[in-house]
Amino acid sequence: MTTRTIARLHGAYRDDIGDLTTRRPLPGPAIGQLDPFLFLNHHGPQTYRPGNRGLPFGPHPHRGFETVTFILEGQLSHLDSGGHESVIDAGGVQWMTAGSGLVHAELSPEAFKKSGGPLEILQLWVNLPSRLKMTAPRYVGLQAPDIPKIEKDGATIELISGEVDGVTGPIASLTGVAMSVVRLDAGSALSLPIPAGRAVFLYVVRGSITIGERTAGAFNLVELTDGEGLDLASADGAVLLLGHADPIREPVVSHGPFVMTTREEIVQAIHDYQAGKFGEVRA
Ligand code: FE
Repeated sequence: MTTRTIARLHGAYRDDIGDLTTRRPLPGPAIGQLDPFLFLNHHGPQTYRPGNRGLPFGPHPHRGFETVTFILEGQLSHLDSGGHESVIDAGGVQWMTAGSGLVHAELSPEAFKKSGGPLEILQLWVNLPSRLKMTAPRYVGLQAPDIPKIEKDGATIELISGEVDGVTGPIASLTGVAMSVVRLDAGSALSLPIPAGRAVFLYVVRGSITIGERTAGAFNLVELTDGEGLDLASADGAVLLLGHADPIREPVVSHGPFVMTTREEIVQAIHDYQAGKFGEVRA
């Protein structure tokens, strides 16, 4: 089998939330999901003024999947009903397993609201298989120094989960999801062995990359053909989110912040949340 090539590009569409610049390449008009990758919001890049109100994500519930949040610029304050509380700085990542359900708030720290500054945050939703949808909630907040950086052929791989060149990322994914942020220098090329059959999640945050004959620019989700390995190059440099996972191949029934396998499970999630079973975020 040959290496992967570009099957389709899915450009992000603009869906601002108040003063928060938001682009969403997934889902899109031509792609419902990239099983098990469900959803990606790209907030920023933008600069907040001093005296801003910060991020608008007050307390809300989730059940049935995981969120992976990449803080490229700015800061993100997290508070959840499991008692987790953290402020993650630029270069850090949050990995939250909503599982059976929790309530969380994703806001800007007071200092950021007061002084303003650059902000660029991406959030990816990764599905859980039905056997793990009711797993116990978990939250891990990683600061930049917690994430190993692997230098390879003019690229830096910030490894969040999975294994590259004998280095293992700090997150032990329940489902074997590999995830990284890749920074490519101008004129660099990178080859990675990604076994055939794995679903590859590849999003161009900045710059552009070339795979085979085709080039993909910023704000594009790159859907690939199957193959063994991935060979990419960048003429001008790039920042990428790059992950891979086994497809779950189960029905997906989603309703707002809940992603389950059947309608009955969605109704149950709404009932459980309304009954207070997801807990509360401490005021
Ligand atoms: Fe959320």
